[in-house]
Amino acid sequence: MKPFLLLLILMIPCGSCLGQKPWPYKPGVAEHYAGTIRSTGPSAFGSITYVGQQEKTVFDRRAKDGNGGRITIHAHVFNIAWSDGLSSEMVANPDIGDLAAVTAQAERHAKIVGLLPHCLRSLLDRIVLHGGNVTMGGGNRSLLLYSEKTMQHETQKGKLHEIIVHEAAHNLGQTMEKSPEWLAAQYSDNAFISKYAQDFPLREDVSESFLAWLILRYHRHRITEEQANTISSQIPARLKYFDERNYNMFPVAADAGSTEPPQKSSIGFQPMHRGTTSGSDGSPVRSPTPLPPKAWAGSPCYLPDLSPFTFHLSRAR
Ligand SMILES: [Zn+2]
Repeated sequence: MKPFLLLLILMIPCGSCLGQKPWPYKPGVAEHYAGTIRSTGPSAFGSITYVGQQEKTVFDRRAKDGNGGRITIHAHVFNIAWSDGLSSEMVANPDIGDLAAVTAQAERHAKIVGLLPHCLRSLLDRIVLHGGNVTMGGGNRSLLLYSEKTMQHETQKGKLHEIIVHEAAHNLGQTMEKSPEWLAAQYSDNAFISKYAQDFPLREDVSESFLAWLILRYHRHRITEEQANTISSQIPARLKYFDERNYNMFPVAADAGSTEPPQKSSIGFQPMHRGTTSGSDGSPVRSPTPLPPKAWAGSPCYLPDLSPFTFHLSRAR
């Protein structure tokens, strides 16, 4: 067989591959950009003060046989002062351990959250910290953290800080994810940055897109040219939306140079286009189909609207 014929045969995709989803599971932006946001970055952590033990009703995914629900605990309560004048309450579950262990975990998590920009911490009234190792969450002006899960994300998966941005961005999402401007940006892009965003376009898209925007605009020198181009071409209208908000991003600082090595992707990334078909040359063609009217329910990390967690948007941000 002539070499060029063999090459042609090898280039023809197998039939079974054509119908397969590009993801073996459901990764999001955090999985792909693990290690881009680092604990060594500037922090807004100021101080943490122990208040004492109080009865607190908090959400816990482990309640109701793992279905999640509100529980009342004799919580260890801390006040966190951020260096930019903001403050948050931390409500820690005694299941973490004795007071020394709880205090150590409270401080650890306050420093982790201190890496978040002002615009996200300003929407953070309460940080709920449990022991255990189940899915974290965000929404209703709160963060839901599990100390064993954060340790696992930090030491084994390296995606802790990306996950924290995603979860905290749910609080931002709840202020604008139904707005005409955001929906217009979604519609204009006609694509999603991740399968997680695509699966839950009304609940996870802001968090996924915000994380991608933060990485592109502030950690450009930690990602490859290809990665930057992927974000830029995939969700340009959403990037513009975030750009135009002029968020206070303190203490997050943009990379100053190109000295940092690009972050190697931990999971192969293939952009997903909603309503995409292949053109005659194999290139993606974006169809003008509108967003599917997908249900709001079901995304794993978006906290349900439970009254104790519903805070008024009256604080300065
Ligand atoms: Zn989420």
